[in-house]
Amino acid sequence: MTRTVSDGRSLDGWRAELRAWFGEHVPHDLPPLDDHAASAGYRAWERELADAGYAAVHWPVEHGGRAASEPERLVFQEEYERAGGPARINIQSLMLAGPTLMAFGTARQQRRWLPAMLRSDEVWCQGFSEPDAGSDLASLRTQAVRQGDDLVVNGQKIWTTGAHYSDWVFALVRTGKEGPKHHGISWLMVDLRTPGVQVRPIVQLNGRPEFAEIFFEDVRVPVDNVVGGLGNGWRVAMAALGFERGVGRRSYVQYLTRLEYLRRAIASAGVRLEPAIELEFGEVLAQVLMYRDYTARVAAEAASEHPTATSAYNKLIWSEIQVRLFQLGERVLRATGDLRDGGGTAAAEEWMAEYWYSRAARIFAGTNQIQKNIIADRVLKLPR
Ligand SMILES: Cc1cc2nc3c(=O)[nH]c(=O)nc-3n(C[C@H](O)[C@H](O)[C@H](O)COP(=O)(O)OP(=O)(O)OC[C@H]3O[C@@H](n4cnc5c(N)ncnc54)[C@H](O)[C@@H]3O)c2cc1C
Repeated sequence: MTRTVSDGRSLDGWRAELRAWFGEHVPHDLPPLDDHAASAGYRAWERELADAGYAAVHWPVEHGGRAASEPERLVFQEEYERAGGPARINIQSLMLAGPTLMAFGTARQQRRWLPAMLRSDEVWCQGFSEPDAGSDLASLRTQAVRQGDDLVVNGQKIWTTGAHYSDWVFALVRTGKEGPKHHGISWLMVDLRTPGVQVRPIVQLNGRPEFAEIFFEDVRVPVDNVVGGLGNGWRVAMAALGFERGVGRRSYVQYLTRLEYLRRAIASAGVRLEPAIELEFGEVLAQVLMYRDYTARVAAEAASEHPTATSAYNKLIWSEIQVRLFQLGERVLRATGDLRDGGGTAAAEEWMAEYWYSRAARIFAGTNQIQKNIIADRVLKLPR
C-alpha cells in the first residue's frame, strides 16, 4: 500500500478510494456508546480502520499514519460522514494525546502508548476540567504529590467525555504550588484501572451518559508517566490544544445529510410548512454551504496568519449551525407528525437526543464566549 496519502494520488483519487472502502466496510449497527461493554464494536471498528491505514491519516508515517495534508484530512472526514461512519471512540488520543506524545514524550513513552492508541487497544479520555476550573483551567486543584518514584494523586475531574468506557486518562494535575497558577501543573497519564480511581457517569438531558466524573483517592502513578517534564504541563497542554486546530475534524456533510433527512420527512408527509419554518430551512442550508466553502478555503491555505483565531471562528460557525439545525428539525418533525408530545418515530426520537446534545456545542471545546474573546484579542485587537 502507498504509505502517504499524496504519493501518486490526486485529491479526487483519495476521495474515490475512501468512498469505495467505506461503502464496503462502515458498520451501521453499533449500539449507543453508553458503557464499556457497548464499546467493543467501536474498538473492533477502530482496529479495522488501523489495519487499512485509516485510523489516523494525519499522523506521520513512522507512527502508523499517512501524513495527510489538511485538505486530504478534510476529504477523509467528508467521506466518513457521507458513509454514516460511527463515532470515533478514541478521538481524544488520536487528536490530542498521540500528537502530544510525539512532540513531548520520550522514546519509551511513545513506544509504550502510541501503537495501542492507533489500534484503540487502549481508549483514552481527556481529564482537564474540574468543578472550579473550566474556562479558567489554570485554577485546577487535583493534586499530585511525589513519593519516591510515584506521584500520589487526589482530587476530582468532571465532564470527562467517554471516561466510563475508557482505559486511560491524560490529566492535568497540580505538582507545585509556587508562583503563578499556570506554573506547577503537570501532564500525567493515568491508568483508570489503578486502585483509588472511581469513574461516575453523568446522565444528560437526552438520557445518555456521554461523560463522567473521575475521583482520585491516593492514586499511585509512576512519575515516569509525566509527559513533557514535571511542572511543564501548561506548556504541554497549550501545545496539545493547538493540535486540535484545523478544520479537518468536522465537515459540512453531517449537517447536509440531516437537512436531507428533514427534506425527505417533509416530502413523505406531504405537508406545507409555515413560511417562517421554510425561511429558517433556507437560512440553515445557506449557513451549511457557507461552512463547506469556508472549511475548504481554510484547509487549502498553507498556514493561517492567525491559526488560533481561525480555529475560534470555525468553532463558532459549526456550533451555531448545530444549535440552529436541531431546533429547526424539532419544528419540522412536529409539523410532519413524526414527533408528538410524549413520543415519535425512532428517527425523530434520535433527532431529539441530538437536539439536546446540540445545546452543549456552545460549551465544549472552549465556550463560544471564550472563542469570541480570542477573536477580539488576536484579530480585532480590541482593548481588554
Ligand atoms: C458535552 C461536553 C463534553 C465535555 N468534555 C470534556 C472532556 O472530555 N474533558 C474535559 O476536561 N472537559 C470537558 N468538558 C468541559 C468543558 O471544557 C467546560 O465545560 C468548558 O471549558 C467551560 O467550563 P465550565 O463548564 O466550568 O464553565 P465556566 O468556565 O464556569 O463558564 C461559565 C460561563 O461563563 C462564561 N465565561 C467564563 N469565563 C469567561 C471569560 N473570560 N469571558 C467571557 N465569558 C466567560 C462562559 O463562556 C460560560 O458561559 C465538556 C463539556 C461538555 C458540555
